[in-house]
Amino acid sequence: ESISVQDLAHQLGKKATEVIKKLMVLGYMATINQELDIETVMIIAEEFGATVEVKTSKEDELFAEIEESPENLQNRPPVVTIMGHVDHGKTSLLDKIREANVTATEAGGITQHIGAYQVESNGQKITFLDTPGHEAFTAMRARGAEVTDIAILVVAADDGVMPQTVEAIHHAKAAEVPIIIAINKMDKPDSNADRIKQELTEYNLISEEWGGDTIMVPVSALTGDGIGTLLEMILLVSEVQELKANPDRNARGIVIEAELDKGRGPVATLLVQSGTMKIGDFLVVGTTQGRIRAMLDYKGRNIKTAGPSAPVEILGLSDVPSAGDDFIVADNEKLAKQVAERRQNERHHKEITSRNKISLDDIFARIKDGEIKDLNIVLKADVQGTIEALKQSLDKLSNDEVRVNIIHAGVGGIKETDVMLSSASHAIILGFNVRPDNNAKKVAEKEDVDIRTYRVIYDAIEDVKAALSGLLSPEI
Ligand code: GDP
Repeated sequence: ESISVQDLAHQLGKKATEVIKKLMVLGYMATINQELDIETVMIIAEEFGATVEVKTSKEDELFAEIEESPENLQNRPPVVTIMGHVDHGKTSLLDKIREANVTATEAGGITQHIGAYQVESNGQKITFLDTPGHEAFTAMRARGAEVTDIAILVVAADDGVMPQTVEAIHHAKAAEVPIIIAINKMDKPDSNADRIKQELTEYNLISEEWGGDTIMVPVSALTGDGIGTLLEMILLVSEVQELKANPDRNARGIVIEAELDKGRGPVATLLVQSGTMKIGDFLVVGTTQGRIRAMLDYKGRNIKTAGPSAPVEILGLSDVPSAGDDFIVADNEKLAKQVAERRQNERHHKEITSRNKISLDDIFARIKDGEIKDLNIVLKADVQGTIEALKQSLDKLSNDEVRVNIIHAGVGGIKETDVMLSSASHAIILGFNVRPDNNAKKVAEKEDVDIRTYRVIYDAIEDVKAALSGLLSPEI
């Protein structure tokens, strides 16, 4: 919110030069076209004996955070993402859970894949996101969309903790999402759950039986063994989280996936996060808008309303939004169109996604401004030894004002998932004797992620140290 010197002068019924003079008296050099912030405007207005009334537009009101009073809140189902190493059984588990919940009368019917589905356990609902893996999870986060309440980490009992298992752990932890371990493939003769539990202790995931607080459930996605227990554990964890939303207001939420369907036009799967969505609602979705013509659940059934944590497929948008876009129901068509148009003009999303990006160059200023308290780092190196050495040295750089926080460290080149994790967690990437691949480079540019590569450990430590003390010379 701002106003130019000229416009302010006009509103005050004064000449622009008079306003500029007042500003100078206050020690502020301004030009006629300069935009002034609210505080300065207040001061100047007072000097001229005028008062300022700050109006929020209907559009701004639509997006204002709403403080819900506790009596309006009701429990909502948890939203769960399944992660883990390739071939450890993520897809099989998702399929088996879905299958186990199809009632006899529905069996044989077409199962729709709309990007998410719900199941019931003991009369309580659970929402599963149907795109497994931490890549999708972190890509959503990088767009500012936090949809997952609980992460299920699948580890195959005949294989053990693998590189993508570790990545998934770091991605879930960076998002501060609780992790439940599903030790899968227990039907295999060479499966060994204890070995998995042992390996996971290295990542501070200690099973409850061993005195820790991580729930670990042996399952088989093949036979279905243990899946009932897994669902119970999900409900247990979600109960502790006290997941709540107000169902009695205009719906808000996130786009899970979207596409252009030849026959039906733009089709989007939305996850309602609060409120209740109804057929006929006008809504803004990312930079597009529309009116809900039809609404289908994950079984392909037509429905009229959808409450918190429900995934629904909707028809009626004027364009195809992106996964991770937010949506919000507006009171009328005019408002929905206005907001969508304004967002297009502002490239609202670009703004949201790049505002919080961190670079070593500006970190000192942002620490001083109290804007950030953590320097999040993703470390990649060619050998494990380097990582250990760096971790130790970097940890020591934490001080009263800033904590150096290594959110992920791994051996190997810098990949797109590293960049997305950094983008989502406002981290910088340090690489040692490794480089970003072309994909990672492209994404880093788009997401504005700072990647620094080094050959010598000492240089990196010195750079971070200098950055934290405001002495870093800009990178040329
Ligand atoms: P994803 O890559 O993690 O999604 O893994 P998939 O679900 O595609 O599973 C990889 C392979 O492991 C497939 O051949 C599955 O049939 C098999 N598989 C998955 N879960 C189990 C299980 O519990 N027991 C056995 N024996 N095989 C499984």
